[in-house]
This record gives sequence, C-alpha cells and structure tokens, in this order.
Amino acid sequence: MAKKTSTLNSPAPAPGPSLHSVNSGGKRAGAKAADVYSPSASQVNAGYGPHFDVLEIGHPDYVALINADTAFWVLSPRAEALDYLLGGELPKSYLEKEAKLAADLETVRFKLLTSAVYFNPTERCNLDCGYCYLPREARRGGHDMDPSRLMEALAKLKEFFVSTLPEGARPQLVFHGSEPLLAKDAVFRGIEKYGDYFRFGVQTNTVLLDQEAIGFLKEHGCGIGISIDGPTAEIADRTRRTWGGSGVFAQTVKALEQLIGYPGLNIITTVTKENVRSLPELVEFFHAKGVTNALLNPVRGTQLGGRNLMADQGDLAHYFFKALDRTYELFAETGRKLVIGNFANLLLGLVAPGARRLMCDISPCGGGRCFFAVGAGGEVAPCSEFLGLPEFHGGNLFESSVKDLVATPAFTQVTTRMVEQLEPCKRCAVRHFCGAPCPAEVYAINGKLGAPAPMCDFYAAQARYAFRVIADGRLDALLWDGWKDGLEEIVVM
Ligand code: SF4
Ligand code: SF4
Repeated sequence: MAKKTSTLNSPAPAPGPSLHSVNSGGKRAGAKAADVYSPSASQVNAGYGPHFDVLEIGHPDYVALINADTAFWVLSPRAEALDYLLGGELPKSYLEKEAKLAADLETVRFKLLTSAVYFNPTERCNLDCGYCYLPREARRGGHDMDPSRLMEALAKLKEFFVSTLPEGARPQLVFHGSEPLLAKDAVFRGIEKYGDYFRFGVQTNTVLLDQEAIGFLKEHGCGIGISIDGPTAEIADRTRRTWGGSGVFAQTVKALEQLIGYPGLNIITTVTKENVRSLPELVEFFHAKGVTNALLNPVRGTQLGGRNLMADQGDLAHYFFKALDRTYELFAETGRKLVIGNFANLLLGLVAPGARRLMCDISPCGGGRCFFAVGAGGEVAPCSEFLGLPEFHGGNLFESSVKDLVATPAFTQVTTRMVEQLEPCKRCAVRHFCGAPCPAEVYAINGKLGAPAPMCDFYAAQARYAFRVIADGRLDALLWDGWKDGLEEIVVM
C-alpha cells in the first residue's frame, strides 16, 4: 500500500524556555519515580535518554539544538540555549514529534520501494566532458544496446515494477548518459511502446536535440534534462566539449530557449573548480532566461577526470551560498523564483524529513534502493555513478531477474551503508541532513565504502547555511511554491 508522510519539523524558533524545571540527572524535588526513569518524558541531556547537540550555525542570534537520531531540531536564541537545553519546553516539544519523526526517517531510509531506473542505451558519447563518470574508452568507442534488446529490457523492467509497486504506480525511467540520443530511434520506439506505463525522461547534452526530437519528447510528456556548466561559453566550454575540443554552449543555450516553460525541463550544472567562482553569475543568467529550477551538483570524484576537477571545499561553500543568496535577491526584486533543487532538497530534509525528492543526502542513499542503473551491455549497478566500477555490478539484466540482481552483495553493500557506522559521521549532528555521500565517490577515493564524504566540510557548512536561511525567514523563498501543500501529496511507495 502507498503510505503518506507529511511531518513538519520545527521551521520556526522554539517558544520561550521554561524556567521552572531543572535537568540535573538526579531526582528533582517532588518528582515522581516515572520522571526519573523516563527522561524523555521530562528531561533531555540527563545522561541517558534524548540528547541534544548544540550546533553553531554562524548566525548572530541563533544556534540550533539537534537530536541527531530523529533529525529533530529547534533554533534557540543564543543567550537562552542553556535554558532551552535544561528546561522543560524542549522535551515537551520533542516528545510531541519524536515518534512521527523517527517513523518518517525510518520510512525514507529503509522502506521506500524501488521506483526508478537510469538506463544507458549506448556507451557512446559525442562529447568528452572532463568529469564524466563513465570510462573514456567506452564513451569514445563503445557499443549501443541492440534495439530489440532495448525493448526486451523495458519489458523486463516493467515486469519487475508491476510485481513490486502498488497498482497504478508509474515508475520513472530516465535514458541517461553516455548520450542517449545517439540511440534515438530505439529510445523513441521504447517511449512510444511503454509511454503509458513508465514516466520517461531523457538526459541529453543537446547536440542531437533538434526540433523534431523536442517535439516528440514534449508530445509524449517526457522529462528533458540538459546540462549547462556556466553563464558564458568561455566558462561552460571548459568542461563540456566535443572530442575535437569545441564547446557546445551556444547550442545548449538555443535548446534551453526552446524548452523554457516546458514543465518537464530539468537543468543540471556540474560544479567544478572551472566554474565554481561563476555560480552567482550563473544563477543570474538562468533567472534572466526564465529558468525556474536547476541543480548545482558538485562534481563527483568517482572517476579520475571528476576527481581532478573537484572544487576546493571552501570555494564551493562560499560561491554556492553566494549563488543561493543571489536567487533570494532576484526573487525579492522580481517575484520570480529560481529554485536550486539540491539545496531545496536539504531544506525539505530539515523541515519535512519524509518529503525529500532527491536521495543523495540521506543514508543509505537512494542508489540500489530507490533506483538503480542499467548499462548499455545490460549490466546493472546501484546508481549511474557505479556503472564505471565493475565490482559494483550486480549482474546482467538479460541473464538474471531484477529481484535477484538488487539483492546481490554488489547492491547490498551500498544499500546497507549507514552514517551510524562511519567515523566521524556517527557523532555528527547533521548526519541525517548529509548522508555522507557519495558511496561511489568514497569508494573510488578511499578504496572502501566505510569513510565519510570527501566533501564533508562542504556538507557540514551547507547544513549550517540551511539553518541560517530558516532563522532569517528565507525558507519559502528558496523552496518550490506550494511545498507545504505538496507534503499532503507525497506518496511513499
Ligand atoms: S560526511 Fe561530514 S557532514 Fe556528512 S555526516 Fe559525515 S561528518 Fe557529518
Ligand atoms: S550518493 Fe552517489 S551513489 Fe548514492 S544516489 Fe547519489 S550519486 Fe548515486
């Protein structure tokens, strides 16, 4: 059965502290025995029972008090933090939400059904982007999936989802990189045949996205994802180039202009050391073009190319937050929002933990759990990031059932990786707002899954920035319109 989850965390500073109770760890005068042995009913930070971390968020007036296990938090005036921590209001407020928050977190971490696939219909790509997560040799000279095999694969995937998802559910299938439009005929035939069942999307570099292709994809209601890495050709073309070395910025902007207003449009910027400083100008550029949603994803270091392009974490935090500040100013100036989806997802994780839309900032992450990836040879991996790491291939779609593939050790070592098992994440106050991503990147850099995020400093800084956004009353401006109404509709499958 589909379940609904809609818990709101504490989006506003907590009410004033109670000054009539103390939290000494010992028996209070007049306290009943139950108070003493059930600290969560009356006390926190009593040595056992609920514990709150004090998080310095870098705000002049507030600090955050966090119960990291349940992802409960309140913002407390700095000067009153100790009164909150030792007073009676905090346990009361915590207790009201504890069970629901814990249950929502449990659901989003462990109980979601697999409902999406990233599908590579070809190994080939007509671009040679510096950070691609797929090996270069495969992109240059690899194979396409045979068109009849592609149909067979879609039939097999449908069979899997029909047997696992509630009736009426429509799983998502995104044709993904390398460049799916190099196998356009087979891909479009698949969309025609299975368009009533799957919610299709195509992530393309736009080189082959002509009028006809745009018309077809719009007619079939497909999502269209495009990548733009900078506000000018000079910046964007540093990372996104043809094999001959020419940039594709002009062409991508042309495609963008044709797609503005299309509800299925999704823009991704991969943030690297080459474009990090231009993020504030990039959001201005997007806003001027009429873009309403974009992802600014820090590059993953899963492959060497990406690793060499990772931005310095201090630079990343500085310019990423500046870009977010700029979206807020642009909204104030024009009344038009540009939502940065990956940050909005973190805000959702704070105010409504069960309502996340993306699955990199929770642990276990969504790889192999909420979705998986299929390579052009039929190889199946927990996420596209793992396709270039053969040791994480569960097997082949054409040889095994999907149910068996997702239960292989290649998958379960990813789907059971949890922040509670990692040093220092298990003590981190923001562990359930970060998730220690990305396991593929962690593995590629450390040779094991059991290590914190290579971008740990950035993720910790991002969580602190998110609390500042809330303390300053900017939450609504940085989230999608109607995000609260949307909570009622969030369906966990
Ligand atoms: S990677 Fe860093 S910020 Fe994320 S949970 Fe671990 S310690 Fe916390
Ligand atoms: S954290 Fe990495 S492996 Fe997990 S879903 Fe995100 S990109 Fe994929």
